[in-house]
Amino acid sequence: MSSSAFRTVPDSADVVIIGGGVMGASTAFHLAEAGVTNVVVLERGDLGCGSSGKPIGGVRAQFSDPLNIELGSRSLRAYRDFPRRPGAGIRLDTVGYPFLLDSERQARDFEAGVTLQNSLDVPSRMTSPEEARRLCPYLSTDGLVAAAYCPTDGHARPGPVVQGYARAAAGAGVTLATHTEVTGIDTAGNRVAGVHTGRGRIACSTVICTAGAWSARIGAMVGVDLPVRPVKRQLAFTAPLSPPVPRIPFTIDCSSTAYFHNSDDGLLFGLADPGQADGFDTTWTPRWLELFRTVARCRAPALAGMETVGGWAGLYEVTPDHNALIGRSAELPGFLYATGFSGHGFLQAPAVGEVMRDLYLERAPFTDVSPLSADRFRHGTGIRPEAHVV
Ligand SMILES: Cc1cc2nc3c(=O)[nH]c(=O)nc-3n(C[C@H](O)[C@H](O)[C@H](O)COP(=O)(O)OP(=O)(O)OC[C@H]3O[C@@H](n4cnc5c(N)ncnc54)[C@H](O)[C@@H]3O)c2cc1C
Repeated sequence: MSSSAFRTVPDSADVVIIGGGVMGASTAFHLAEAGVTNVVVLERGDLGCGSSGKPIGGVRAQFSDPLNIELGSRSLRAYRDFPRRPGAGIRLDTVGYPFLLDSERQARDFEAGVTLQNSLDVPSRMTSPEEARRLCPYLSTDGLVAAAYCPTDGHARPGPVVQGYARAAAGAGVTLATHTEVTGIDTAGNRVAGVHTGRGRIACSTVICTAGAWSARIGAMVGVDLPVRPVKRQLAFTAPLSPPVPRIPFTIDCSSTAYFHNSDDGLLFGLADPGQADGFDTTWTPRWLELFRTVARCRAPALAGMETVGGWAGLYEVTPDHNALIGRSAELPGFLYATGFSGHGFLQAPAVGEVMRDLYLERAPFTDVSPLSADRFRHGTGIRPEAHVV
């Protein structure tokens, strides 16, 4: 499928996609399915070597605004259907997803979110602390006011998603050029003319940037401001546990961002370190685990002492309002982008691939994504900063 033995790239293509993560792969699949097959995906490493290399990804439709709810909800449906289309097992487990809330104000905000989600057919609901504990027996209810819970959310495996989309795209004729770095983009007036790579130049009139945390650099090649900053995020795994771990939901403590869920025979722990500086470094430095254990001591005491046996670090691709950048450049119409998912990219990838297909084909997407245009920061438009930030 992908080839590290790729010596040269094609001389020309209708579309060049920069970045072979979940967004690039989903976009390539949806274009190919629509008959747009003269497409080259350029990935400087292996497919999924960026943020999409995360071992397990949360999937959910619980957001605080209609557009993110629709992107999450449509993607969940696509993930349920993934074994049929494109045709791969992705170990989707809809274990449910509670946000634990420890203040009346949080509870009011999330209640408004639940009302909105229900109006869009998402079966979320508010629960008592006691019900949250029944769902996740590790919890202590001390200090908890409520939880917002959706039983159809859960987690799945990003690796097989990337491979599933990529395999189907390649089968339809898309070229996946791995170990091929983009070094520049040619423009002529307000047109895209070609892409330079370490393996040659590709003439093309459309570039789609799905370069994740590295997208600002790609935008800078053509003078398009993509305000995405890289922020390291880490997680850790426990050893297989005995007695066996109960099947628990993807459980998040809203105030601290500490979260945990099943991972094979153990548990996975995560937390956003508030002191983490921006940067591209992805060295796993387990010091942040102390922050997790501090939260766990009161929220889920049994977890605080569990031994961990390793972990993973990757990059969040963060925008100023924690919402994605999706659209077509007004100044350079041949330049499209889908990036800056701020921790939601895996769960939105199927729907965003569809949207990118439609933006390229100049068809109306299933929902209006214009509030996610990168121009919103210049024009003061857009949607409100995402509240369900994890
Ligand atoms: C610890 C952690 C936990 C997360 N948890 C979740 C979660 O639970 N749910 C969820 O939805 N999301 C989660 N995310 C976020 C999610 O992983 C990302 O939003 C998503 O993977 C972004 O996909 P992408 O395809 O846009 O970017 P990436 O997967 O980063 O792909 C971009 C690709 O572009 C390539 N590239 C960059 N520059 C160039 C160049 N010049 N030439 C060629 N190739 C280039 C890179 O090598 C990379 O492979 C998490 C992220 C982390 C780090």
